[in-house]
Amino acid sequence: MNTLDHVYAYIETHREDALARLFDYLRRPSISAHGEGIAEVAEYIAGVLGGLGLSAEICPTEGWPMVFAASEQIPSRPTVLLYGHYDVQPPDPIDAWVSPPFEPTLRNGRIYARGVGDNKGQHFAQLLAIEALLAFQDELPCNVKVLLEGEEEVGSPHLAPFVSENKARLAADLVITSDGPVHESGRACIMFGVRGVAGFELRAHGARSDLHSGNWGGVAPQPVWQLVHLLSTMRSPEGRITIEGFYDDIEPIGPLEREALRRIDVSHATIKESLGVDRLDTPADRGVAERLCEWPTLTINGLHAGYGGPGMKTVLPCVASVKCDMRLVERQTVERVLERVEAHVRRHAPDVEFIRYGGMDPSRTPMESPYTEPLRAAVHHAQGEEPLLIPALGGSLPDYVFTKILGVPAFTVPYANPDEANHAPNENLEIERFFAGIRTGAAMLWHLGQTG
Ligand SMILES: [Zn+2]
Repeated sequence: MNTLDHVYAYIETHREDALARLFDYLRRPSISAHGEGIAEVAEYIAGVLGGLGLSAEICPTEGWPMVFAASEQIPSRPTVLLYGHYDVQPPDPIDAWVSPPFEPTLRNGRIYARGVGDNKGQHFAQLLAIEALLAFQDELPCNVKVLLEGEEEVGSPHLAPFVSENKARLAADLVITSDGPVHESGRACIMFGVRGVAGFELRAHGARSDLHSGNWGGVAPQPVWQLVHLLSTMRSPEGRITIEGFYDDIEPIGPLEREALRRIDVSHATIKESLGVDRLDTPADRGVAERLCEWPTLTINGLHAGYGGPGMKTVLPCVASVKCDMRLVERQTVERVLERVEAHVRRHAPDVEFIRYGGMDPSRTPMESPYTEPLRAAVHHAQGEEPLLIPALGGSLPDYVFTKILGVPAFTVPYANPDEANHAPNENLEIERFFAGIRTGAAMLWHLGQTG
């Protein structure tokens, strides 16, 4: 037997103990939305990290604290930064829970508790992996740093400044996050990036107040038409975003990405069926996976003006507004894209008000990374199946703090079942996925150690 087989056997014989300790963690609320239990749980998890022999500290921020820990750093070995978050979403509505959110319960092969998938169960699995490795060797196969945030569920407002101010302390060769669900098919996966997001609002103004459309139509300016015309200059019916310079910075799709997209693609017919539609958005011929991973979007979130009540009202409204979001891909930035939208609005409708809502930059780790292969091999070894490689998540997470601020490749290797019900009542984690997570955590550190 090699070391990893011993480690897996150790994990197997310590199942009861692992579950008991996870339950102890889950019983402690740590709700970042209003602060309940945050300070206590930061102390608690710092204690767990210290118990593994890591130097652990609680780092204050202007919000809830970060918990940081590091193993002894041996220069010849690669350094892995494990990121997770110890805060959880509020459990409301409490009445919809079958068992109380902070009394972890086993049912149908699953652990039910607030935070079990998002994210306590997943990063606790990483910590148990460290413990299992240390049961067989005095040193870890690679240097490990752990960063646990207390504000992920409220949008990570202090993560970027914390990483900027602590680059030396957080210095690593790669970052691994275990959060979110595995692929919707249930297959293990490794994710290499996320799309960014940026938002804005446009407001068109007419007369001082709403007017009679018969007395003033054709005389007073019409803000609703103005907005409709402006919007029509921003995206063509063929689906091309026509804001000047919008596509300028986009990274072309590489061969490994193409191959990965081919493997995870879903047919148009399947998507049409599941959405109850007979056509998809333009351009019609583009694959679904490619749309979600590789292309930016401009979505109208809401368009508001005038009368929408029963019957007719012959009014000429004096104001119209629209809210939009854009999903961004590597190497677009929130700053540059919003500048281009603003310049476009200034050119086409100079008197329309432009309001920025900020956003989050995209993040992408190249699939050619030297760490792709050890991580792939580790997941395969620990879970017995080939993981799907996903170039990017369609949604947005603050991974850019690692790839852009810290400047290192970042990978997400999720452990939770697709129906984990995170943020919802009856959040759960399949028991076997928790143990697969511990094995995967150990295998990743072991395989990464071989690259040193
Ligand atoms: Zn969450």
